[in-house]
Parts: sequence; structure tokens; C-alpha cells
Amino acid sequence: MSAVILDGKAIAASIRQEIKQEIESKGIKCGLAVVLVGEDEASKVYVKNKIKACSDVGIKSYAYYLQKTAEEDELLQLIDALNNDSNIHGILVQLPLPSHINEKKIISAINPQKDVDGFCAENMGKLFLGETDVLAPCTPSGIIEILKRSNIEISGKHAVIVGRSNIVGKPAAFMMLRENATVTIAHSKTKDLKSITSLADILIVAVGKQELIDASMVKKGAVVIDVGIHRTEQGLKGDVKFGEVSKIASAITPVPGGVGPMTIAMLLQNTLKAAKALMEKQ
Ligand code: NAD
Repeated sequence: MSAVILDGKAIAASIRQEIKQEIESKGIKCGLAVVLVGEDEASKVYVKNKIKACSDVGIKSYAYYLQKTAEEDELLQLIDALNNDSNIHGILVQLPLPSHINEKKIISAINPQKDVDGFCAENMGKLFLGETDVLAPCTPSGIIEILKRSNIEISGKHAVIVGRSNIVGKPAAFMMLRENATVTIAHSKTKDLKSITSLADILIVAVGKQELIDASMVKKGAVVIDVGIHRTEQGLKGDVKFGEVSKIASAITPVPGGVGPMTIAMLLQNTLKAAKALMEKQ
């Protein structure tokens, strides 16, 4: 048996095309503010990619670069100005922030209707309540889209999520629950991880430990979603041993080219969604 490769890159490309068409055909004005504090190299690359993706689909991006010594107040003032700027429909503050800035405080300062990362308490709360009209975090939204667009049934399936971070694991669990999966969350304190992962019909791995999941931990025929990203000399690797797991899974996301490209596509989708909702209110 050899797994179907779930091509996140191709799915993301078609979502971006749909977004572009909608923006063009309806003449939607859509603006995303991207805020970067400091000089973190990986963050700079992410911001550059997001800005490029915006311009490809017709979203106007506004980049704000603050020095790593910037005060928390300066950032709060910028967010306040962006909250009140009618040209801006989405605000993204690239994480992580320098340690002297309180991330929670910054996230909660963003108007929830412009919170295109979906990290604020109001949007997380709506997700918890099972609401669908919400700006949900991009990576788990991308996972759901990959499954749906690959015609993988979620309802009634046992989904095991490994990882409970606020940006991936936890929201992924609630989104799978919203899709009527039976959900188990495993994490760093879980005992005998293998006995849990091997029950999964759909296994979502967001741990950040290179090749943690091997074939002995996966049920034959399971769908495996690998969120992990590790830069190695051999290129990008995931949290799953792709070579051996792809021989027993029915479908699997590769790294690179799986969940990663979907995250940016979902950011663009959230920005369009926010723009449409804010326009309706005007
Ligand atoms: P995190 O460090 O915030 O959370 C990791 C989680 O894994 C924690 O909840 C922890 O309890 C759990 N964990 C740690 N060790 C474990 C173990 N041995 N067994 C079981 N669970 C364990 O990480 P994160 O932000 O959720 O990111 C996870 C991975 O996904 C990273 O590699 C990150 O780079 C990647 N990521 C990728 C994308 C993307 O777009 N593809 C987006 C976000 C994160």
C-alpha cells in the first residue's frame, strides 16, 4: 500500500486563484497590515512570503517594521491606529515578539474583526462554541481544507491531535470536533503515545520534534497530517517519518508542500472574509 499524497501546494494554489477571482470580479478593496518587530530571520522570510502572496491575489499589504527595542506602547499605538484605519481589514503581528513585549496584551489589542490570525480570545471563544462565522487560526483551517478538498470524510472518524499549542493543536481539535470527529488530544505529558496515535483514523501531528511519528505508531489506512517544520541539511522535514509512514497510511501530507502552503492561503482567505464583513457593516 502506498498513501495518496495530499498536495497542499496545489490545493493552496487553487484557493489563491479563487480569492483572486472573487476580489477582481467583485471589485473588493482589501488591505492587510503586517507588523514585524525585530530582525528574526525566519520571521522576515514569513513576512516577505505573506506580502508577496497578498500582491499575487490583489490584497494591498501595508508593512510596518519596528526595531527590536521598540516599546510595547509603540506597538499598542500602532495597533490602535490600524484598528481605526478603514483601509486595513486585517492585522497580523508576526510572532514571536521580543521578550520585553507581552504577546497576550498585543494580540488582545487587535480588533477581533481584523484578527486574521484568529488568535484573540473572542475568536478562539467562538471556535470553542462551534461557530462557523469566525476568523479561525490559519494552520488548523488549512488542515480542514486539505481534508475537505481531498474528499476525506471527517464526521464520525477518530481524530488524534498530537500537540496542544494555542496556534495549532488546540484549535485543530475544536475544528475537528466541529466537523463531528471524535477527538483525542495527546501532548508532552501523554503516557504511551503510540497506544493513542495508533487508534487514529486521522492523525494530526503538531509537535515540533523531527520524525517523532514512525510507522509503528500509525494504524494501517490512517490519514496523516504532518504540521511540523524542521530545517535540516537535507531540506525541510516534518514530525512524521514520511518514507515509512507513507507505506501504511491511506493519505499523507508531505513536508514541504503539505500544510505549510495552506497556512498562507488561509491568511488570505481570512483577510478577504474580514474585508467583506467590515464592508457589510459600513
Ligand atoms: P509548540 O511548541 O507551541 O507546541 C508543541 C506541542 O507538542 C505542545 O503542546 C506539547 O505538549 C507537544 N509535545 C511536545 N513534545 C511531545 C511529545 N514527545 N509527545 C507528544 N506531544 C509533545 O509548537 P507549535 O507552534 O504547535 O508547532 C508545532 C510544529 O508545527 C513546529 O514544528 C512548527 O514549526 C510547526 N508549525 C508549522 C506551521 C505550518 O504552517 N506548517 C504552522 C505552525 C507551526
